[in-house]
Amino acid sequence: MWFPGELDYEGMIIRPPSEARSIILQVTVGCSHNRCTFCGTYRQKRFRIKERQRVEADLERAARLYPDTRRLFVADGDALIMPMAHWRWLLPAIRERLPAVQRVGTYATARAVRKKTDEDLRWLRANGLRMVYLGLESGDDQTLRYVHKDSTAEQMVDAGRRLKAAGFTLSVTVLLGIAPDGRSGEHARETGRVLSAVDPQFVGALSVMLCEGSELVAQVQQGTHTIPGPAGYLRELREMLAHTELSGGQFMANHASNHLPLKVLLPAGRDDALALIDRALAGDVALKPEGLRAL
Ligand code: SF4
Repeated sequence: MWFPGELDYEGMIIRPPSEARSIILQVTVGCSHNRCTFCGTYRQKRFRIKERQRVEADLERAARLYPDTRRLFVADGDALIMPMAHWRWLLPAIRERLPAVQRVGTYATARAVRKKTDEDLRWLRANGLRMVYLGLESGDDQTLRYVHKDSTAEQMVDAGRRLKAAGFTLSVTVLLGIAPDGRSGEHARETGRVLSAVDPQFVGALSVMLCEGSELVAQVQQGTHTIPGPAGYLRELREMLAHTELSGGQFMANHASNHLPLKVLLPAGRDDALALIDRALAGDVALKPEGLRAL
């Protein structure tokens, strides 16, 4: 639905797969944290909030180009970090200019959630922000420190629970292949524990890719981090899924970066999914060739 160039974009724009048909409105540039070792996406961008006039001009353009589009995604990397003063004009402006939009989504870090009060979160939810994509990556504190995330596992649990309590639809992203060497099992099990404690509606499990400009590339070249092979990714995914208890949610590992596309309805679909991973580990199911994996 969105076409780079038609709206006002600075640099590369990233959005979740489920926002493929959404209007992508870039309100912030880059990521305020911008330190995760595996993430090179925003290294060339210095974080800032775009001028209100530019965003309003973009909303006018979007209203002309996509008047019937029902979803809108606020970019870039952790746009929830914007102070409430910005959200307080933005969400009513989206409602006014794009009345067909029924769902606004954004990326969030746990730190961005910490900077919002429960009342702020409820205001955002009541004014159209419905979908939040929270970057957990790992529930293992050692792995979180290793990849320079901005929060501990318990801070992630708190952020996820507060978002759910405020009524957001919550999608939590986790990342395979980022644990320090020898710590894949702990990363998988602790991530399952945090996911179970938060109990989001959606989990998106991605496999780490080497992104130009990221520290991970240097770590791999220096031999201090080993990227798992397909079997390593699958074993980690299996362990994570086996330790994830959701009361009713989707665990998706069908991103372009994954070797074995999986979409699992939990709790009912877990045993079948684990059996499929076992068959893949035994070589009985074809995996996506390494060269076809993508971000
Ligand atoms: S992974 Fe998320 S929080 Fe970390 S640098 Fe990238 S956009 Fe920022």
